[in-house]
Amino acid sequence: MTKARVETCSYKGCAEAVAYVLELNGKRFNICRNHYRELLRRLEEKAKEYGSASLSELNPTEVEGGVRSFKYRKG
Ligand SMILES: [Zn+2]
Repeated sequence: MTKARVETCSYKGCAEAVAYVLELNGKRFNICRNHYRELLRRLEEKAKEYGSASLSELNPTEVEGGVRSFKYRKG
């Protein structure tokens, strides 16, 4: 029996299945549903502050074993 390889969230320590793939700086990051919601909430706050905000303006903080966080960076 072969085990299907399920892609999991890129967040360090998160083992949830990927729900969304985010492409930043030519790299692909897997985001699970919970973390995706979290990112969207953050973007909503930034959109209020700056007028607009998009996922492409997130900047990943990479650590060994995954991504620690995505920081918002305008422009
Ligand atoms: Zn996750």
